Amino acid sequence: MRHDFQLSIITLLGACAVFGITPFAVFRFLTGNVMAGVTDLLILASICAAVVYAWLTGDNRRAGFCLAVFACTGGVMVATLLGDEGLFWLFPALVTSFFLASPILAVVVNSLALAALMIDGSAFDSREQMLSFVTTCIVVSSCAYIFARRNEHQRERLERLATHDPLTGVKNRRAMEEEMQAAVANHIRNDMPYALIIFDLDHFKRINDAYGHARGDEALVECTDLVRRCTRRSDQLFRFGGEEFVLLMPGVQASGIQAVAENLRHKVASELQTPTGPITASFGVSCLQPGDDAESWLARADDALYEAKSRGRNQVVIRLLPAEPTPGSGIAASPASDQRIPG
Ligand code: GH3
Ligand code: MG
Ligand code: MG
Repeated sequence: MRHDFQLSIITLLGACAVFGITPFAVFRFLTGNVMAGVTDLLILASICAAVVYAWLTGDNRRAGFCLAVFACTGGVMVATLLGDEGLFWLFPALVTSFFLASPILAVVVNSLALAALMIDGSAFDSREQMLSFVTTCIVVSSCAYIFARRNEHQRERLERLATHDPLTGVKNRRAMEEEMQAAVANHIRNDMPYALIIFDLDHFKRINDAYGHARGDEALVECTDLVRRCTRRSDQLFRFGGEEFVLLMPGVQASGIQAVAENLRHKVASELQTPTGPITASFGVSCLQPGDDAESWLARADDALYEAKSRGRNQVVIRLLPAEPTPGSGIAASPASDQRIPG
C-alpha cells in the first residue's frame, strides 16, 4: 500500500467512512429513524465493497470512481431524509470526490449531486438557504479542483523524474527492472515471447576525449533517437547506465532477433558519425526462456555483450541458452547456441 498512492487513499477514506458513519447509523436506529439508519448502512456497505474490490482487482480507477459516486449519493440521500442536519454531510463527500476520481469526473459527480438536491428541494427550508448552500458547495469544490489538478500534475512530474533519463528522455534502469519483471510474469501467464538487446557504444571515452563531453551527450541523444526510429512502438528502450542501453522487445521470437539486432548495428554504424569516422556499438542478445527470471535473462544478454566487446566490437552476439562452465576451468564456455555476427 505504501507504493500505491491511489489504493492508500481509497483504503484511508474507506476507514474514515466506516468510523465516521457507523456511530450515526447506530444513533439513527436508537432514535427510531430507521430509514436514515438503513441509508447509512447501505452507504457503508457500498463503500466497503468498493474498497474490497480495489484490493482484490487492483482496479483503483473504477473503485475510486464508484466510491465518489457512493459518497455523493449517500450525502444527497441523507440531506433529503434529514434536511438541515443532513446537509453538512455533503461537504466531505464533495471534497473526497477529488481524491478518489480524476478532477474532471469529480466535477461531474459533484455537479450531478448538487443538481439532484436542488431539483428535489426538500432538503432546504427556503430558496435563500438553497442558494447559499449551493454557493458554498461550489466554492469548496472549486478549491478542491485546483488542489487536485496541481497534485495530479506534480505526481506525474515526479513519476517521470523517477522513471526517465533526463538527457535522452528514454526510461531509466529502475523502470527497466519493473518492465522486465512484468515481461517475465506475462511470459509465464500467456507464453508471450520476449527478446532483450543490450548494447554499448564502442570506445565512447575516446569520443568524449576528442570532441568534448557535450558532443558525447549529443551522440547519446542521436543514438536513442535513431534506435527509437528503427524499432516498433511496442519495443521499449532504456538507458541502463552511461553509454549502455537495453531494448526490450515483446513478441519477438529467437528466429527473428538476429535480423533485428543486425539491422540496429548497421544503422548505428552508418548513421552516427564523428568528423573522424563512425560511432559503432556492440550488441548482446538473449531471449526469455522457460525458468528464466529477470536477472538470469539480463545476465545472459550482458554476457553476450561482453563477448561482442572481446571479439573486437561493432558486432552482435546472441546467447539463447545459459553458458555452460568448462570442466575444471571455472570459466564460462561459449555454448553451441552462441551466434556471432561480425560487423
Ligand atoms: P568500450 O568500447 O569498451 O565500451 O569502451 P568505452 O570507452 O565506451 O567504455 P568505458 O566504460 O571505458 O567508458 C565509457 C565512457 O562513457 C566513460 C564516460 O565518461 C562516458 N559517459 C558515461 N555517461 C556519459 C554521459 O552521460 N555523457 C557523456 N558525454 N559521456 C558519458
Ligand atoms: Mg562503451
Ligand atoms: Mg559501458
